[in-house]
Amino acid sequence: MATATMPTTQHPVTISATKLLINNRWIPSVSGKEFSTVNPSTGEEICRIAEADAADVNKAVAAARAAFERGPWKKINASERGRLLNRLADLIEKHTDELAALEALDNGKPFTIAKAVDVPMAVACYRYFAGWSDKVQGRTIPVDGDFFCYTRLEPVGVVGQIIPWNFPLLMQSWKLAPALATGNTVVMKPAEQTPLSALRVGELIMEAGFPDGVVNILPGYGPTAGAAIASHMDIDKVAFTGSTEVGQLVMEAAARSNLKRVTLELGGKSPNIIFADVDLDEAVEGAHFGLFFNHGQCCCAGSRVFVEEKIYDKFVEKSGARAKRRTVGDPFNPTTEQGPQVDDVQFDKVMGYIESGKKEGANLVCGGKRAGDRGYFIEPTVFADVQDDMKIAKEEIFGPVMSIIPFKSMDEVIDRANRTTYGLAAAVWTRDVQKALAVSNSVRAGTVWVNCYNVIDTRAPFGGFKQSGIGREMGEYGLQQYTEIKTVTVKL
Ligand code: NAP
Ligand code: MG
Repeated sequence: MATATMPTTQHPVTISATKLLINNRWIPSVSGKEFSTVNPSTGEEICRIAEADAADVNKAVAAARAAFERGPWKKINASERGRLLNRLADLIEKHTDELAALEALDNGKPFTIAKAVDVPMAVACYRYFAGWSDKVQGRTIPVDGDFFCYTRLEPVGVVGQIIPWNFPLLMQSWKLAPALATGNTVVMKPAEQTPLSALRVGELIMEAGFPDGVVNILPGYGPTAGAAIASHMDIDKVAFTGSTEVGQLVMEAAARSNLKRVTLELGGKSPNIIFADVDLDEAVEGAHFGLFFNHGQCCCAGSRVFVEEKIYDKFVEKSGARAKRRTVGDPFNPTTEQGPQVDDVQFDKVMGYIESGKKEGANLVCGGKRAGDRGYFIEPTVFADVQDDMKIAKEEIFGPVMSIIPFKSMDEVIDRANRTTYGLAAAVWTRDVQKALAVSNSVRAGTVWVNCYNVIDTRAPFGGFKQSGIGREMGEYGLQQYTEIKTVTVKL
């Protein structure tokens, strides 16, 4: 096993898992190729990682298929699946500092936030679905005639899972936990930018005692390893989180290969609607958190901040002041609120949106520039007087760029909020319960927050309307996406 030691200032991290995990063994790729994973704070290589391709996907699928059909996993008690998941949760919790440091190093998110949010939420997700393992029940059905009819909820089979880089550890848990609770086997591709925590969890999966072939982890690139998963003839379902464009490719590949089941968690352009009757400071802080959390790299980021005209100027002024106070810098510094964007591609993309905002005539209140002289840091940026048809108001930026848009009436803002191809999340801030419920009921989005933002819990379903996705993750609805319903009818 290759080992690289990264001396970060406060948190020395030893990286032990850099290969492919197939059939509970760490192996190089068939091609022998490797790629580098980069520290976004410096732009420098952290270490080399084995690069999976179609040939490795074939090997992993064969291992996952054998585990599903012939391995001990097939006969394991449902309660034992729950015990294994709980053991994995305990191991992740035990290694909280190390996993948080890997996230900070590989993704750039602040260590203190990874430790307080990402790791505990992943642990909670494994524990929640561990609890479901032995509670996935069918029904008895009173069909006409002299028959005994019942349903069984069976695992879908071999599941391909493709995850993004914005919450590496957490997205891994959202995918793995429900799939394993219901008895599937998995071939997972972490994002090429952030393979380290996923691979470390692979070691913990082995330590927890999951049988051979149940979980296979293949770092690599989307168009090669990812596409091979989406089009594989022996994968029964693919679960994907990422951009809408790639989501469409994944669905197309699934349709053209074997009609594998598809669930998609895609992008968003979520409206955050603020009425004039709010506590202004609370709403400013809430909107700031709703957009800038995780450096703006959230699928549910509140990136269209609609503010009622009467408080618009004050809101803009306070939001600009708050963004200027946001601390940007070393993810290992405990006072840092915002680290770098994940890579040079995202950095350039976000800077391009900032330029387009300026060009299209939005009013740059603060930020707009690179922060520091190395790595991929961007100043927290606020635009005011944004028009609905500007690019920054229409497209997903996925960076620390807030657009504040004025509105006059409730009906008007609901209509404008819904004029988007996305439908992942929305929020409304008001003390008027009727307004809050009218907006919540009318907005076309999978999640609506009232007087709060980014409140995400493993027990509550999450996912999108429209082009923000298909299906739901988490909660009981997330579980359903990993089972097939079988109807059994017995003549009496
Ligand atoms: P992306 O390309 O959609 O990547 C998501 C995952 O899909 C990665 O593991 C990626 O592999 C893989 N992938 C790429 N092309 C594929 C293909 N043809 N077949 C199968 N899998 C494929 O997203 P991105 O390029 O990282 O980011 C682009 C934009 O996507 C962002 O700016 C943001 O708007 C959106 N995004 C949304 C979310 C979300 O949570 N909904 C998360 C991340 C990004 P690689 O590792 O090679 O990229
Ligand atoms: Mg990296």
